Amino acid sequence: MAIRDIIILPDKRLRLVSEPVTAIDDAIRTLVADMFETMYDAPGIGLAAIQVAVPKRVVTMDLSRKDEEKQPRVFINPEIVWTSEEANLYEEGCLSIPEVHEDVERPERVRVRWTDLDGQTREETADGLFATCIQHEIDHLNGVLFIDHISRLKRHFITKKFTKMAARRAAE
Ligand SMILES: [Zn+2]
Repeated sequence: MAIRDIIILPDKRLRLVSEPVTAIDDAIRTLVADMFETMYDAPGIGLAAIQVAVPKRVVTMDLSRKDEEKQPRVFINPEIVWTSEEANLYEEGCLSIPEVHEDVERPERVRVRWTDLDGQTREETADGLFATCIQHEIDHLNGVLFIDHISRLKRHFITKKFTKMAARRAAE
């Protein structure tokens, strides 16, 4: 297992549409193990493979609290098959847009279908933080970021700030 580098806004790879996983092989199992190590190290509650520069439809998640036992979950080729009419507002953040937190409105509940590491198809209705997190991560697989759901003015301000920081890093 290894901690991989998390790519940061405005890295263009964050806008890629990730490819479906066709076989759960050693490369996928290693990717998942590395994603968990990277996510726990960050620390974060969810990570999409593209955030470690791998354009595959893989998501890791752990919504357990600090005082609880770890609850690692893996979603391969996840898709939303139903969304509730009711919406919810949650303050979101993203490991690829560090230190930015904004309220995002999304459907309150979603039904998610995915493949687990054993190749089994699973389905579950998500609500609360789980619903928010899985929608945020599936967005990543489609090249969408949470700042795409906020006002254009705020998005522009955040993108500009990160573009300047990247230019400064490149000049060092
Ligand atoms: Zn994110």
